[in-house]
Amino acid sequence: MSSKSKKPETIAVGAGRMSAEHFGTVNTPVYRTSTILHPTLASLRNEEAARYQYGCLGTPTTESFEHAVAELEGAARTVSVPTGLNAITTAILSVVAAGDHILMVDSAYGPARRFCNGALKRMGVETTYYDPLIGAGIEALLKPNTKVVFCESPGSLTFEVQDIPAIAEVAHKHGAAVLMDNTWATPIYFNALKHGVDLSIQAATKYIGGHSDVMLGTVSANEAYAKRLETFVHDMGLYASGDDCFLALRGLRTMPVRLARHWGNGLTLARWLMERPEVARVLHPALESDPGHKLWKRDFTGACGLFGVVLKPISDAKLTAFMNGLKHFGMGYSWGGFESLIVPANFVRTVKTFPADGPVLRIHAGLEDTGDLIADLEAGFARMEAA
Ligand SMILES: *Cc1c(COP(=O)(O)O)cnc(C)c1O
Repeated sequence: MSSKSKKPETIAVGAGRMSAEHFGTVNTPVYRTSTILHPTLASLRNEEAARYQYGCLGTPTTESFEHAVAELEGAARTVSVPTGLNAITTAILSVVAAGDHILMVDSAYGPARRFCNGALKRMGVETTYYDPLIGAGIEALLKPNTKVVFCESPGSLTFEVQDIPAIAEVAHKHGAAVLMDNTWATPIYFNALKHGVDLSIQAATKYIGGHSDVMLGTVSANEAYAKRLETFVHDMGLYASGDDCFLALRGLRTMPVRLARHWGNGLTLARWLMERPEVARVLHPALESDPGHKLWKRDFTGACGLFGVVLKPISDAKLTAFMNGLKHFGMGYSWGGFESLIVPANFVRTVKTFPADGPVLRIHAGLEDTGDLIADLEAGFARMEAA
């Protein structure tokens, strides 16, 4: 691929563009279609390679978006699917069959656990959860029928960094695929496939879209897993609309610039919070004091705006006083848009309890002025004190 030497910023701007086919327009327009008319019977029968066959099998809009993500991920094939959660379930289902076993990281995105414990179990696939910090020790958990090792790094809500290359080496030795939810770092800050991941998952709803106005997921596969991924997506009738792919591609063009600002704003807030008497611990791998910092520094090239804060134990009334009244931090799920957010982190652990005596909060640092954001948090702590 000619993009090998290109920097992510350059790829984000140029990848997937089809100006020559669209009268010189910079952006590929939105195609809304079910039917593609074929000029000949042979084309209709797919005997001659028609570039487009049928709406849900791809249009120039979905292709532009998928090519752009594939180039960023260094993937052989990227598919776009309706949500980030669907990207997780699609990636898993494209690999496993009844009777198989998968290893799922204990710090995984909550709904991914729900899928494993519910639908996947019903289909005869067994899940074992593992400690996110297990590294090469995962070898002890691999069974002859283990087909997937699922990673998420840093972990949802608790931000443990995983040793992906060590896990991948062992998994591959035993014939298991390595799947990774790479939404936190995006392909800009972590090149999953280069670190041994076979299928890299993005909730494009987050930073790729970047404007809290679209729900979308992507799965990017290396050469070995590309064909079965594509076949599975077609067999399932999965499709992401041209409108959503257009919005996500528009977001992707500016993602590196936005991420740099989210990273800076997040670290500024994290460092400020570390000094607060109300705070027990800040969970942010880019902080030198974070247990995952060494691995983060070795493998990642940046950090996004999402991190965690463990507060000292307080009453629910005090937590309520802090949260209610924040002006710049919205209380709502999802993240990766331009705006700051805060939510209490509700997570489940079955392998090892996560050490936190007080409430854990997840903060998304948006693109606002950090002085304004800090003043907002400071006023919240004052309300907490008074409650
Ligand atoms: C939000 C999120 C998802 C799911 O994305 P949706 O588009 O909301 O389905 C998956 N993984 C992580 C880490 C997320 O934060």
